[in-house]
Amino acid sequence: MSTWRDNLRTIEPYVPGEQPNLPDMIKLNTNENPYPPSPKVVGVLKSFDCDSLRLYPDPNSQLLADALAKRYGLASDQVFLGVGSDDVLAIAFMTFFNSKKPVLFPDITYSFYDVWAELFQIPYERPALDEHFDLIREDYYKENGGVVIANPNAPTGVLQNIDFLRDVIEHNRDVVVIIDEAYADFSESSALELTKEYDNVLIVQTYSKSRALAGMRIGYAMGNPELIKAMNDVRYSYNSYPMTRLSVALGVAALEDETYFQETVAKVIETREWTKEQLKRLGFSFRDSQTNFIFAAHESVPAVQIFDALREKHIFVRHFSQKRIDNYLRISIGTREEMERFIEETEKIVANAGK
Ligand SMILES: *Cc1c(COP(=O)(O)O)cnc(C)c1O
Repeated sequence: MSTWRDNLRTIEPYVPGEQPNLPDMIKLNTNENPYPPSPKVVGVLKSFDCDSLRLYPDPNSQLLADALAKRYGLASDQVFLGVGSDDVLAIAFMTFFNSKKPVLFPDITYSFYDVWAELFQIPYERPALDEHFDLIREDYYKENGGVVIANPNAPTGVLQNIDFLRDVIEHNRDVVVIIDEAYADFSESSALELTKEYDNVLIVQTYSKSRALAGMRIGYAMGNPELIKAMNDVRYSYNSYPMTRLSVALGVAALEDETYFQETVAKVIETREWTKEQLKRLGFSFRDSQTNFIFAAHESVPAVQIFDALREKHIFVRHFSQKRIDNYLRISIGTREEMERFIEETEKIVANAGK
């Protein structure tokens, strides 16, 4: 007998880091910003006209598209908006990856890419990173249906330089190359300038990390108007009003406070550099991170053991059980005080493990 179950779409979903809610916890497991959003954002939220919520928002979110275009020196039709960059990336996969050839992304990268590929039935291949967690450029010279590079990469924190990206793009002028820059604000470079030279490059960024608005869900893509229009056509085929009135208002407000943005990013970077020194002292090794997290392995104590012991202290970091990286911990950068606590507890854990 047939049942509705025969026609179920089954899929293994992406699993985000847990969101525990303990009063004394130190949450270093999802790369959120340890600082609150800009006071400008808080001000706009407090004076927000709630009556306006009766009305549908502007389908184009024009105010936010304009503000982002101005911030990045683009035209408004070069900016696509989404409900977090996960939404932006999913729509980009749907829009650009419709060939029979495999889309390429590394074996170790943001683990949502293969979930979307499965969901949209896009063939894909995952060339292995080298032993230092660098991408191997020649792997991306082969025929393919598109390329996705998180840069800096997650969860490794490693940045490939602009020359590397340019070379990969030069070898892939006939497909769309997506560069996921979720962490670029914490690094020394963004590939945004490449969108001016290449019509097949899409840069994806987010408010979730550097702009401290993960809870608002705002992401965006930048590229040539044809790419953006194609994505909008797909998006408006299933949701006419992705961005709420509130997300547009707060998104614009965040961009108006460049000083606060620069200051908080600088603080995270400073704390990251301090944490690197401490982790080295405790016997951890890691590639130099250009993000708001450090991906580190200890010389003798297994990652899972440290993970569990930290968890008992209500300090949450991230561990991935994928092979090649299962002895690493991904540690988000919190405030200086949080990182001092984290280092203090980790030092004890590592010392006790040696006894
Ligand atoms: C955090 C992250 C995203 C998604 O962020 P949103 O909160 O959906 O904007 C996308 N890509 C990478 C590599 C990330 O780490």
